[in-house]
Amino acid sequence: MAGNQNRYVEEIEKRCPLASRINHPENTVIQVGEEKVGGGRFTIIAGPCSVESREQVLEVARCVKASGATMLRGGAFKPRTSPYEFRGLGEEGLRLLLEAGQAVGLPVVTEIVAPRWLPLYQDVDVLQVGARNMQNYDLLLELGKLDKPILLKRGMSNTIQELLLSAEYILSGGNSKVILCERGIRTFETATRNTLDLAAVPVLHKLTHLPVLVDPSHAAGTREYVEPLALAAVAAGADGLMIEVHNAPEQALSDGPQALLPDEFSDVARRVAAVRAALG
Ligand code: PEP
Ligand code: MN
Repeated sequence: MAGNQNRYVEEIEKRCPLASRINHPENTVIQVGEEKVGGGRFTIIAGPCSVESREQVLEVARCVKASGATMLRGGAFKPRTSPYEFRGLGEEGLRLLLEAGQAVGLPVVTEIVAPRWLPLYQDVDVLQVGARNMQNYDLLLELGKLDKPILLKRGMSNTIQELLLSAEYILSGGNSKVILCERGIRTFETATRNTLDLAAVPVLHKLTHLPVLVDPSHAAGTREYVEPLALAAVAAGADGLMIEVHNAPEQALSDGPQALLPDEFSDVARRVAAVRAALG
C-alpha cells in the first residue's frame, strides 16, 4: 500500500509541478482584502446561495458578519441544472453583493460561469469556479491571466487528481492565488445531496500547498447535516468553510433546504471555534 501511495504522490508531482508540493513545500497563504486564507488562518465564507434582493443580501451579510464570517458569498450568475430555475440576477446581483459586502466590511466571493462576464467582476474579491465548471478549461485559462484569488470547487464527479490538474491550468497561466474547495461528490448514496469526501482534506494537504476549504452545505443538501459536516471538516484540518445562510430559507430562490438560518449559522460558527480551540 505504501508503495502505491508513493507512486500516486509521484504522479501528482509530475503532472502538477505547480500545484504539488514538489517545488513549493510551504503552505500558500492568499491575501483577500485584509484577510488571509491558509497558513493557519480559518476562513468562513457565508451568505445566500443566490443574491435575490438588496434587503435579503444586506440582512444576511449583517448577520454573518456579526457571527464571525470572514467573507460574504452570493451567486449572481447561477449555473442551474434546469434552465427553468432561477439563474440569478446577473449584473444587478453582482452590484447588490458588492454593496452588501462594502456595507458590512466583508470581501465578496461569487461564481463566474463564463469568460465573457469577466469585465463585470473587477471589484469582486474572490472568483468562484463552481463544481459544474471545474473542467471548463477555457474559463480556467482566462482566470489564469488574472491577479485575483480563485476559489476552485471540486467537480461532483471529479477525482482529487483532476481537481489538482484544473488548479494547474490556473497556476500555469501565472495566477498563483488558487483556493481549493471540497463540496461533496456523487456516489450511490442518496440520503444526502452529495457525499462529502472528508478524506480529500488530509490528502490535499499532503499533495498540495494550496489552501483547502470545505462546503458542507452543497454536500449535505439538508440544513440539519450542515453543522456536523462543518465540525468534521474543521477536525479534518480544513483551512475554512463555505456555508449557505438565508434569512427566509423557505422563500429562497435556490438551495433553500440546505440554508442555515442566521441563528443556526451563529451556533455553527461558535462550535467551529470550540473545535479549533480543542484541537489546539
Ligand atoms: C454554489 O456555491 O452556490 C454552487 C453552485 O456550488 P457547487 O458549484 O459546488 O454546486
Ligand atoms: Mn447553492
